[in-house]
Amino acid sequence: DTALVWFRRDLRAQDHAALYHALRSARRVWCAFVFDTDILTPLPRADRRVEFIRESLVDLDTQLRALGQAHGQTHAGLIVRHGPAASEIVTLARQLRVQAVYANRDYEPHAVERDNRVRGDLAHAGIAWHTSKDQVVFETDEVMTAAGTPYGVFTPYKNAWLKKLSPFYVRAYPVARHAAALAARPDGWAAGVPTLGDIGFEPAGLQDLPIPTGGTGARALLDDFLERIDDYHDTRDFPAVKGPSYLSVHLRFGTVSIRELARLAWDRARGGSRGAEVWLSELIWRDFYHQVLHHHPHVVKRAFRPEYDRIRWEHGKTAQAHFQAWCEGRTGYPLVDAAMAQLNHTGYMHNRLRMVTASFLVKDLGIDWRWGERYFAEKLNDFDLAANNGGWQWAASSGCDAQPWFRIFNPVTQSEKFDPSGRFIRRYLPQLAGLPDAALHAPWKARPVDLAAANLVLGEHYPQPIVQHDVARERTLARYAVVKEVR
Ligand code: FAD
Repeated sequence: DTALVWFRRDLRAQDHAALYHALRSARRVWCAFVFDTDILTPLPRADRRVEFIRESLVDLDTQLRALGQAHGQTHAGLIVRHGPAASEIVTLARQLRVQAVYANRDYEPHAVERDNRVRGDLAHAGIAWHTSKDQVVFETDEVMTAAGTPYGVFTPYKNAWLKKLSPFYVRAYPVARHAAALAARPDGWAAGVPTLGDIGFEPAGLQDLPIPTGGTGARALLDDFLERIDDYHDTRDFPAVKGPSYLSVHLRFGTVSIRELARLAWDRARGGSRGAEVWLSELIWRDFYHQVLHHHPHVVKRAFRPEYDRIRWEHGKTAQAHFQAWCEGRTGYPLVDAAMAQLNHTGYMHNRLRMVTASFLVKDLGIDWRWGERYFAEKLNDFDLAANNGGWQWAASSGCDAQPWFRIFNPVTQSEKFDPSGRFIRRYLPQLAGLPDAALHAPWKARPVDLAAANLVLGEHYPQPIVQHDVARERTLARYAVVKEVR
């Protein structure tokens, strides 16, 4: 038997469900990735995620070759194509004359649609289609209430998730044990991974940031995080501190196995590590939002709770200008602006700052959460439809287990609390660096002598605040009153 493994958002060769199942059931197995023009065509020509994928494929190709070589197969490796993925993969399967195509399940609506099409086209050609769970620990309806309905609140979901967890669900798939089935690339087929230029893209500066790529990069980040994981609960809220794992982009593209992460965190948590316990909870949020998207696909367009669709958001010229100022980090609120600068410059934003900036857009500027969701989707390296939508609906109070609508973050208090000495703000807003710590969070309140000493002219070097938080807060409470009325 022969098989083809189609890699998508699972760019690693270890602990890989689809690869393992293919290697176990077929004598010869090819591995392929398609640069999908349906996804790539609308993107800007310099995109950090495309560069991340390309670099990670080089690493994957190296891992596959090494696995083959260990079993005497010197011409194993990745086959890379460029075109509309749904048809390319079927063409490839026919060219290789395989009996089956294996892939890991992807739950995003457009991916589900694409895979249904591929399954149909393969069936037409007499080729089987097998998919596996790999992206999450528990999928779709594996964790349900006693009544058989999906959970809408996180804590009971988390408790049920933990109750169901057993070593079985987080065990690694021993790919290497079966790697003898890796097949040689057919004679005359190009080896290696195309350059960015080959697929019509330009470098986006990943090297300068730097963002480590591929399974090798994920391993380095994980090793580093394991030294700090026990403190995670104390450090995770402070953007100037190296607290979180920075693994989100690797989870997004599957260069690390969620099972391995959950297993490590679970072991440490059971050994008494509070940090590991809290981190495991974050991994459970990831599963939670995946199941929300699966059971409530309307969240992609509308509020999870329908009464929140009654809210009238600001629109028109002022809202457009405010939105632009938010995107570009020109709101006059230093923590918000530094956070947006971090996003624009690196493609990453610290979790606390995602909450603060999202809340600011929705509850200080009165702008529809979907505008912000779309901007994050364009910019975040780790953009994940389920987590991003969940985060935005949380901030807008319209989602599953969201922030109550009358709780409104004060951007100055958040700044004083989570960046007390302004280390984060100074890194991204060097024009404010000369202000004393106490004045950094609200420069419009700074004493003239402090502004002069810092060589700072407000309105020239740094904007005046575009809204007054107290006024905006009252307006938001009034805006959200329509929600209360229907309760
Ligand atoms: P760590 O603190 O090390 O967490 C480990 C992992 O747990 C993360 O990599 C992530 O996979 C998962 N995780 C953590 N928090 C959450 C959460 N609240 N929801 C779901 N999963 C979580 N996360 C994304 O992966 N993609 C997104 O597009 C995304 N958009 C967001 C938008 C908003 C408005 C908000 C408030 C949060 C969003 N998050 C998103 C969740 C969270 O901010 C990031 O996962 C986290 O900051 C990534 O950094 P890390 O890997 O260092 O996190």
